Amino acid sequence: MLGPVLLAASRSDRMRRIVAAAPITRPVVNRFVAGDELHPAMDNVRELTASGLEVTLDHLGEDVTDEATAHATRDAYLGLLRALRTEGLGTRAEVSVKLSAFGQALPDGGHDIALENVREVAELATAIGTTVTLDMEDHTTVDSTLGILAELRKEHPDTGAVIQSYLFRTEDDARKLAVAGSRVRLVKGAYKEPASVAFQSKAEVDKAYVRVLKILMAGDGYPMVGSHDPRMIAIAQELAARYDRKPGSYEFQMLYGIRTAEQRRLAHDGERMRIYVPYGADWYGYFMRRLAERPANLAFFLRSFLPS
Ligand code: FAD
Repeated sequence: MLGPVLLAASRSDRMRRIVAAAPITRPVVNRFVAGDELHPAMDNVRELTASGLEVTLDHLGEDVTDEATAHATRDAYLGLLRALRTEGLGTRAEVSVKLSAFGQALPDGGHDIALENVREVAELATAIGTTVTLDMEDHTTVDSTLGILAELRKEHPDTGAVIQSYLFRTEDDARKLAVAGSRVRLVKGAYKEPASVAFQSKAEVDKAYVRVLKILMAGDGYPMVGSHDPRMIAIAQELAARYDRKPGSYEFQMLYGIRTAEQRRLAHDGERMRIYVPYGADWYGYFMRRLAERPANLAFFLRSFLPS
């Protein structure tokens, strides 16, 4: 019951102000967010990559409502990529972008504005030898995001996409995307979606995840298994063996701060393991989605308000 309430709160400006102003919020946010600025976040990235993990960095932000902020997002990613080049991390670090932060939802030509902004990011990523993955947001954005993916892949074929098993349409999307050179991250989905477009029960979302995973593992693309769920991880390993995929022809991905021992175990066992590392001041929406996924996180957050 709490999950949908928290997901609704994740889009409320009033709640954003209340949560962000609470002095004890910060230590809890730090569990999921690698820093308010790029440079403290890079310390965490260095530590992760030194321990055999790979990363995808997310400069936090979403739902921008003016073009200047969309350009600022693009510039932040260009700065991030230059920092990765300086650090020599181009082969172990890529970037994840939310197109709503690049202007996708702007009423006048948002799709094209987002495409032009993200194209510059993809160009620099290619120049430094790394890749861009387009995160997936709510269902109203899927057609536009897959359209932008198709455009980018003409010049940057290793641009990645995310598909969400909770959406009814995803099996079809997976079939189209399971082609040579195509990088696809499969996740369960983190937004509040109506019953007209998405499975509502965890059991149905999990079953759909397995069906889509089969399509991706059997296909010719590069599956990126984005999940912390031990069952999904075990099934992914079984499918990889069934389809004769060696480690490195697929990868696991988990979020920064979640199941860190399991992240290291998989890497230690020879799997390719990538950590999604968010950083930046605009952490509210991301943080609330993490609380919504797991009631224990909310209890952890609320306990931090109690006197110690
Ligand atoms: P669940 O069944 O939710 O969780 C399985 C187990 O994982 C839980 O029992 C718990 O032990 C652990 N766990 C899961 N979530 C948490 C948490 N928040 N805190 C602590 N423990 C937890 N969603 C999108 O809609 N679009 C995206 O672009 C997107 N990108 C993602 C990128 C990566 C690398 C990952 C890992 C997830 C991404 N997600 C994205 C989020 C995803 O959709 C799920 O909401 C999230 O991963 C939880 O689902 P799960 O597969 O981990 O399984």
